[in-house]
Amino acid sequence: MLSKYHKRCKDLGNLAFKSGDSRLWKAITNNWPLIHNNTGWAIGNENTVKFWTDNWLSNDNDWKIDELRNYLPHDIVAQISGLLPPRLNEGNDKAKWEGNKEGICTTAHAYALIKNEHVDEHKSLWRSIWKANIQQRLRMHIWRIAHGNLPTKKKLNSQGLGSDICPICNRYSETTLHAMRDCIKSREVWSKCLRNELHGTFFNCSQMNWVRWNLNNRRASMGGIPWVVIFAIACSSFWHWRNLVLYEEDFALPNDPTSIILSLADQYWTAASHCTNDPIQHIAPFNVKWDPPPVDWIKLNTDGTAYGNPGNAGCGGILRDHKGEWIGGFTSHIGSCSALDAELWGILKGLAFTKKKGLNSIMVECDSKEAITLIDKAKSSGFSFNQFINRIIMLASDIGRVTFLHNFREAYTCADWLAKFSLSSNVGLVELADPPSDLMRFIARDKLGISSCRVGPV
Ligand SMILES: [Zn+2]
Repeated sequence: MLSKYHKRCKDLGNLAFKSGDSRLWKAITNNWPLIHNNTGWAIGNENTVKFWTDNWLSNDNDWKIDELRNYLPHDIVAQISGLLPPRLNEGNDKAKWEGNKEGICTTAHAYALIKNEHVDEHKSLWRSIWKANIQQRLRMHIWRIAHGNLPTKKKLNSQGLGSDICPICNRYSETTLHAMRDCIKSREVWSKCLRNELHGTFFNCSQMNWVRWNLNNRRASMGGIPWVVIFAIACSSFWHWRNLVLYEEDFALPNDPTSIILSLADQYWTAASHCTNDPIQHIAPFNVKWDPPPVDWIKLNTDGTAYGNPGNAGCGGILRDHKGEWIGGFTSHIGSCSALDAELWGILKGLAFTKKKGLNSIMVECDSKEAITLIDKAKSSGFSFNQFINRIIMLASDIGRVTFLHNFREAYTCADWLAKFSLSSNVGLVELADPPSDLMRFIARDKLGISSCRVGPV
């Protein structure tokens, strides 16, 4: 079908139909932007992807980071060095689905996506309001703001009841947004509570988006009080004071509304923090420790760390025998990548390091359950869209006997230490012949089989 109709279209991003085309083709064309926008590339031999016209790879298939530094800003170089460089022997580039980590588009995923795109806006907004950690009456108030259900002067005026002029500034029409955000006293409070760089978005969006922004904003929290609490209490106070101005003759607006609102928010939050509903009965402490591999096996512990997701990232790994003795280790400052990619970089570099040392029978242990699950899935299906996983599996089969295990972070002091240590050096790999002195005590601890306590679901 693509060959029949696609001739007319310049590229895959731009499918079109004519009046005589089949209904199926029209339906595909209509839904294509959704599919296309969620499709990325799994880089194989880089033959199909147009971006890769320049040869940025060194002879050993690694990024020429020093050369890139001459042309590109530091943060872009960090992002590139966090990516896996393409390789000629990895087959053609494949289009992959961006909607999930496996890169596979199933009917269920596509349906969920389409459903989300057209999800009833009111329902999703109500869900965010319902989830907010505030009192029920505040939730109802926010709901009314979002839907313009407050009996503002403007609303009453439209039903023939009085003037629409705001009773506080006596200047503008009292709409919901005017009363809650734009009128002089409200604006004063918001301006004091929000950092300048947030004012642009805050004061310029529509009513529904304004509510949504305030429900989901995590950057504006103050003194440990979530922003949604301050937002809800401020809106409720503004409305309360407006009513008092209208109906109580000798009421005067507070001189310093900001401090009143912040103190109410603080009182509420202190009280709320003391009555959590954590299901404590399902949480229990248990012991976690590093276990040596069986005789004739080597254990490779790897760890990746990323400050941000994506963010500055590094990884490290340590090889030990059945007595817990050090065989070798490495640290690698990756650049910028996601937390999962940092873990996968750790496994990949650890296996490459192992292969270089001529070792086989390796137990790879990693604290990322997600990474281990992706590897297991790819091993059983024989394929992954994630090039890290494909390379990990290829390297493992080159090495010989390799098993992959998950263990908890508390059993990971050595690899964790090496991953964090990598960030103190330049981007690149450092192979360690001897353990750094600060690492010795962690190795000794593991050798003795000392356990750490982990608290988690049982
Ligand atoms: Zn006003």
